[in-house]
Formats: sequence, structure tokens, C-alpha cells
Amino acid sequence: MYEMRAELVPAQGALVWHVVSKETRAGALCGYLIPPQSPSDPAASGEAAEERYCSSCMSAVGSAVARHLRRPAAT
Ligand SMILES: [Zn+2]
Repeated sequence: MYEMRAELVPAQGALVWHVVSKETRAGALCGYLIPPQSPSDPAASGEAAEERYCSSCMSAVGSAVARHLRRPAAT
């Protein structure tokens, strides 16, 4: 399973959403290290002007899903 974690990028005034695997919670799929004190929903603070998704995480999820779908259905 995966969950989304937001990284606040003050220089860009933006939130970047990363994908974190439940098995490796220390880091996102792109290698971004999630700060332990990172709030689960910093968007609530209203500091970010825009939100976007981390493209590296998105492609990592895409390939993981593709691998899953390519698994033979019949045994
Ligand atoms: Zn990422």
C-alpha cells in the first residue's frame, strides 16, 4: 500500500506530494526523505499557493502498477 506525504517547498510556495510505501516509510519512492515531524496535511496551514505531484514518485507508482497488472492471472 502507498500513502501520500506532502513536502512544503517555501521557495516555490508550493506543496509537492510524494508517494511513500508502507514498507519503507522513511523515504518516498523518489528518494526524498520524509521528516519525522512532517505534518500529514500541511495544506491545512494555508502556506502553499499551489499543490503538485512529484513526477518521480508518480512514474515509480506507474511502473509498480504495471508490474502488478502484468502478473499472470491464471495459475
Ligand atoms: Zn517524490
